[in-house]
Amino acid sequence: MNIPEIFGENVFSDAVQKETLPTEVYKALRATVEAGKTLDVSIAGTVASAMKKWAVSKGATHYTHWFQPLTGLTAEKHESFITKEGDGVIMRLTGKSLIVGESDASSFPSGGSRATHMARGYTAWDPTSPAFVRGGTLYIPTVFVSHTGETLDNKAPLLRSMTALDRQAKRLLRLFGIDCKKVSCAVGPEQEYFLIDEEQYLKRKDLRLTGRTLFGAAVSRGQELEDNYFGALKLRVAAFMRDLDEELWRLGVMSKTKHNEVAPAQHEMAPIYSTVNVAVDANMLTMEVMRCVAKKHRLACILHEKPFRGINGSGKHNNWSLSTDTGFNLLDPGLSPENNTFFKLVLAAVIKAVDDYQGILRASVASAGNDLRLGADEAPPAIMSVYLGDQLGAMVDCIVKGKSYVATGTLESSIGVPESPIFPKDATDRNRTSPFAFTGNKFEFRSLGSQMNASEANICLNTIVADAFGAFADELEGKADIEKAADAIIAREFKQHYRIIYNLDGYGPEWVAEAKKRGLLNNKTTADAVAVCYDESNIGVYVRQKVFTREEAIARADIRLENYAKVINIEALTMIEMARREIIPAVSEFVGKLSGGVCAKKSLGDIPCKAETKLIKTLSELNDSADEAAEKLARDLKAIDKSDVRAASVAMAHVIIPDMEALRKIVDEMETLTASEYWKYPSYFDLLYSVR
Ligand code: ADP
Ligand code: MG
Repeated sequence: MNIPEIFGENVFSDAVQKETLPTEVYKALRATVEAGKTLDVSIAGTVASAMKKWAVSKGATHYTHWFQPLTGLTAEKHESFITKEGDGVIMRLTGKSLIVGESDASSFPSGGSRATHMARGYTAWDPTSPAFVRGGTLYIPTVFVSHTGETLDNKAPLLRSMTALDRQAKRLLRLFGIDCKKVSCAVGPEQEYFLIDEEQYLKRKDLRLTGRTLFGAAVSRGQELEDNYFGALKLRVAAFMRDLDEELWRLGVMSKTKHNEVAPAQHEMAPIYSTVNVAVDANMLTMEVMRCVAKKHRLACILHEKPFRGINGSGKHNNWSLSTDTGFNLLDPGLSPENNTFFKLVLAAVIKAVDDYQGILRASVASAGNDLRLGADEAPPAIMSVYLGDQLGAMVDCIVKGKSYVATGTLESSIGVPESPIFPKDATDRNRTSPFAFTGNKFEFRSLGSQMNASEANICLNTIVADAFGAFADELEGKADIEKAADAIIAREFKQHYRIIYNLDGYGPEWVAEAKKRGLLNNKTTADAVAVCYDESNIGVYVRQKVFTREEAIARADIRLENYAKVINIEALTMIEMARREIIPAVSEFVGKLSGGVCAKKSLGDIPCKAETKLIKTLSELNDSADEAAEKLARDLKAIDKSDVRAASVAMAHVIIPDMEALRKIVDEMETLTASEYWKYPSYFDLLYSVR
C-alpha cells in the first residue's frame, strides 16, 4: 500500500479542485474556504459540474447532501445524477442542487420549534468541509436549517461558534499587534471503541437495541491485570485496524494512532488534528466506517459510552487549540510563560470561561450513555475543573498570591540509562483524571462520550471562550498601556476563578467534598445537568455571540432532555422484555429441571440433594423478585407523563434508573447461579473474550 498515493483519493480535495476548476473559480472557492469569504454563488454551476465529473470517474452514480440533524447521527438521502435528455438520460449536478437541498424538517428533532405544517427544511453546502465519494455516492457536507433560518443541526452552530471565536480572538490579537486574517480552532478527537464477535453481538437484544448491556454478571477477569492497555493486538483486531486505516486514508481522514485500551476488547484510534468542523465531519465518518469495516470482519464495533459494567467505558478526548492562519498557536506558552502576557491573558480567558459556564459545558457532554461514565472512577467526574500542571499551576499560584514567579530549574530529564538520550521534559505532566487539562499547547476536554457528535462540546467551548475574549477586548480597547491593563485583568481573573483549577486526583472522593466547598457544580445526571441550560445567563452567552437565538438555545435543551428520556424509556422497555421473555423463563426452566432431578432422586430412596434443593429455593425466590421488579419498572414507566420533557427526564433519572438498577441486580445474581446452557444470551465472558 502506497499511503501518500491512496491518501484522499476519494476526496474532492484542494488538489483535485485546483486540477479540475478554472483558475478564477478555484481562487474564489479557496477564498471562501480559507478566509471565510461568503461564497460567490455564480461559481456554483462550474464547481458542481467539475465535482460530478470527478465523482462519476470514481464510480459515483448518486449524490447526497450529508447533514447532522439533532439525532446525534448523520443523515443522507441519495439522489442519482440522472437527468432526462431526449429519450435517455445524462449525468448532471446543477449548481443549485450543490448549494441547496430540501428536507422534511418535521421528521427530525427540533425541540418543538417546528410544527408539521411548517416542515420545510433546507440543507446548504458547507464548502469548508471537503466532499467525498463513498459506496457509489458523492457526499456533500451541508448545514441543515429551517425555512425561517433556525438551525436544526450540529454543523450550523459550530460554524457560527467558529466565526464568533475568530471575531473575538482577532480583537485581542490586534491589541497586541499580532496581525492575521483568521483565527481557527483545531481539534484532534481520540476515539475509543469496543470490538466483539458479531455472532455474540447478534444474540443480545440489549446491545442491538440500546448499544449497551442492560444485564450481565461480572466476569472473573476484568481489567485488573492492566495488561490490555497498549497490549499486543490480536490478529482479528489487527486486521480490522489495517482495513479501517486504509479506508479512512482513502477518505482523507488522517488516522494516526491505534492501540488497545484499558478494558478487554477496548481500542482507540486517534487522527491528526484539523480545523474543528472538518475534524467533526471526519469523526462522524470514522464512526460510520468503523461500524462497516467491523461487519466485514464479522465483528461488531460498539461505540456506546458504557457497554459493559465493571470495566471502563469509552470516551472521545477532544484536543482543542486555537491558531492563526499565520501559524501562531494562541495556547503556546513559549519558553517563559510568566513573561508572556498574551498567553497569560488567553489562559485567563479560558479559565474564566470554564468557571463561569461550567454548567453548560457539563451539559454539552450530557447523555444517558455518558452519565454512566462521568464520575464512575474511570473517566473525569461530572464536576468541571481545569488542570494546569506543575509549571503553569505554580505560575498562576504566584500571580494569585502576588508573589514573583521563579521558573523551576531545567526542563530536562535523565532516565538513568547511559545509552539512552536525555529527553526534554514536557511542561505539563499528564493528569488523566481531569476533565479539562492543559497539555503543552492545547487543552484536552476529556468528558465527551464516545458516540457523541463532537460538535456540541466544541460549540460550547468556542462560544464561552469567544465571550471571555470579547469581555477582555471590551475592557482593553482604548487603553494606553495594554500590557499593564492586561496584567491587571490577568491577576483579577486568576483570583476570581481560582476555584476551577484543580491539579490533583479528580477521581477521589476528596475532590467531590472539596469541589462542593468551592461551590462548583456536580450534576451527575443529564436531567440535572441540562436544567441549567434554561438559566438566563447561560442562554445569554449564546445569544451574545450570535451562536444560538434564545429560541434555539431552549429548543436544544429540550431536545437533549427529550432524547435522554427516550433512551431511558427504550432501555427500560428492553429490560422488561428480556426479563419476561428470556430471563424469567430460563430460570424457571432450570429450576424445573432441578426439581425433576430431585423428585427422581427421592423416588430412588435417601440420596443427598441438598445442593439442588438450596438452589431451587434461592432461584425461585430470586425469580419471583425479578418478576416483581419488572412489574414495578413497567408500572413506574407507564405513570410518567412524557409530554412534559423536563418532568419526564427527572422521573427517568430518579425513579426509572433506580428501578432498572434493582431489576439488574437480581438478574445478574441469577445469572451466576443458573447453568450456562440455560442462559438465553451470551455472558460477559462470551462477549469480551470471543475475539482472538
Ligand atoms: P494522548 O493519548 O497522549 O493524549 P494521542 O496521540 O492519542 O495523545 O492524541 C493526541 C491528539 O491530539 C491527536 O489527535 C493529535 O492530533 C491532537 N493534537 C496534537 N496537537 C494538537 C493541537 N495543537 N491542537 C489540537 N489537537 C492537537
Ligand atoms: Mg489524550
